[in-house]
Amino acid sequence: MDNRYFYEGTTGPWELVIGLEVHAQVISNAKLFSGAATAFGAEPNTQVSFVDAAMPGMLPVINEVCVEQAIKTGLGINAEINLVSVFDRKNYFYADLPAGYQISQYTRPIVGKGYLDIELEDGTARRIGITRLHLEQDAGKSIHDQHPEKSYIDLNRSGVALMEIVSEPDLRSAEEAAAYVRKLRAIVRCLGTCDGNMDQGSMRVDVNVSVRKAGEAFGTRAEIKNVNSIKFLTQAIHYEAERQIVLLEEGGEVLQETRLFDAARGTTRPMRGKEHAHDYRYFPDPDLPPLVVDATWVEKIRSQMPELPDAKKTRFMKEYELPAYDASVLVGETETATYFETGLKSLDPLTAKTAKLFSNWLIVELFGALNREGKTIDQSPVTPSLLAGLINQIQAGVISGKIAKEVFSLMWESGKDATSLIEEHGLKQVSDDGAILATIDKVLSENPSMVDEYKSGKDKLFGFFVGQVMKAMAGKANPELVNQLLKEKLGK
Ligand code: ADP
Ligand code: MG
Repeated sequence: MDNRYFYEGTTGPWELVIGLEVHAQVISNAKLFSGAATAFGAEPNTQVSFVDAAMPGMLPVINEVCVEQAIKTGLGINAEINLVSVFDRKNYFYADLPAGYQISQYTRPIVGKGYLDIELEDGTARRIGITRLHLEQDAGKSIHDQHPEKSYIDLNRSGVALMEIVSEPDLRSAEEAAAYVRKLRAIVRCLGTCDGNMDQGSMRVDVNVSVRKAGEAFGTRAEIKNVNSIKFLTQAIHYEAERQIVLLEEGGEVLQETRLFDAARGTTRPMRGKEHAHDYRYFPDPDLPPLVVDATWVEKIRSQMPELPDAKKTRFMKEYELPAYDASVLVGETETATYFETGLKSLDPLTAKTAKLFSNWLIVELFGALNREGKTIDQSPVTPSLLAGLINQIQAGVISGKIAKEVFSLMWESGKDATSLIEEHGLKQVSDDGAILATIDKVLSENPSMVDEYKSGKDKLFGFFVGQVMKAMAGKANPELVNQLLKEKLGK
């Protein structure tokens, strides 16, 4: 379902058009225009300066760190940096917005056009345009569930710096939208400009969805506000697409409106009619001069950029001869890439073959175990060097891949290294011709009719013999050797 570009309606296929506005909280100790702290989870209203509370006469002062973070992110999304940008007031009335306006950037954002390359599971690559990135303040938070009659306001978030990253309406499926958010998250995390924690609200997505018949002009969009996980993003897009298609096919009209995602039901519902820009009465903030940044500063930031996921992927493919799929999974999170490269240091020998083996074990076994236990890779009891130790034992022929799974489980439980576990549990692979041949003789003599069938052409039975020998040797026989000796013995 995810990978469909076209939705089938009763009137034929429809195409999805999606544009995302991602709000990414800037990593900075202080707010965008005040020195108040930004730590997550603090007691309500303990991180609020007079500026954030909009006390009369207070003046905003721009935080250089936030500007640097925005520039870094702009460079990370291949965008042009505007050396002159302007802060505007976006006026609206809301209880958690004490100033009555939000300071944002409207006509002249700090970062202009850029793009992101995304890759889908089937290997398709697409370039998604980014319209702009601007800096703005976050608002406070209304709390409605603490008192039966009253609402409370927490201003800790008021004034925290956000980067709003707006995409072009270039996305065509929920899968693409998810890939875009994952990619953006990997980039900001790698840059250290946003922690990307969607569950803590430091990355939130407004999803614009419309549908059209192929080749026609864009349809009217609905905007779903504040979606805070990739799973919800996918659900919201599917729901919204179907809702709009059914509506249009019944002769109705899609309204341009803001909708809310209901996570419990997996549906969206109207929140309010969409404000138009003129409703916000934007105008340049008279308290703030235009923001002028020095080109040499931008170049200095550019020269200090870390290796980004795309570059890392290319390097992994080249240096370790990894397939594109492995490489893109490994660079999906900085921690995964670090785990991989740390592990490779303990591989003996490090070759394309052992690197690929290590990658397989990381992506399949380690990810599997981490998912089962809800752990992050940094919390893995199997460290990179432990996993490398296991691969070394496979590579050296000490254990088979099958036994290695058993060793991996033991390793996960105990944190002990592969060599000790193999010794302790007697898991060493038997690579002794004599022992294997003896077992082969026994298996063949116990199954004379099968041997006859095999010899008269039933080649499939070969697997049966291998299985019987392995079983008789408790899975510890060297599989390659078993195959080779069986072939010799059966005379084929
Ligand atoms: P606003 O700030 O009012 O939400 P913007 O023009 O900044 O409006 O657009 C917001 C987002 O909507 C952008 O990500 C853009 O790509 C997307 N968008 C614009 N038109 C459409 C459309 N017809 N269908 C889907 N997304 C759209
Ligand atoms: Mg919007």
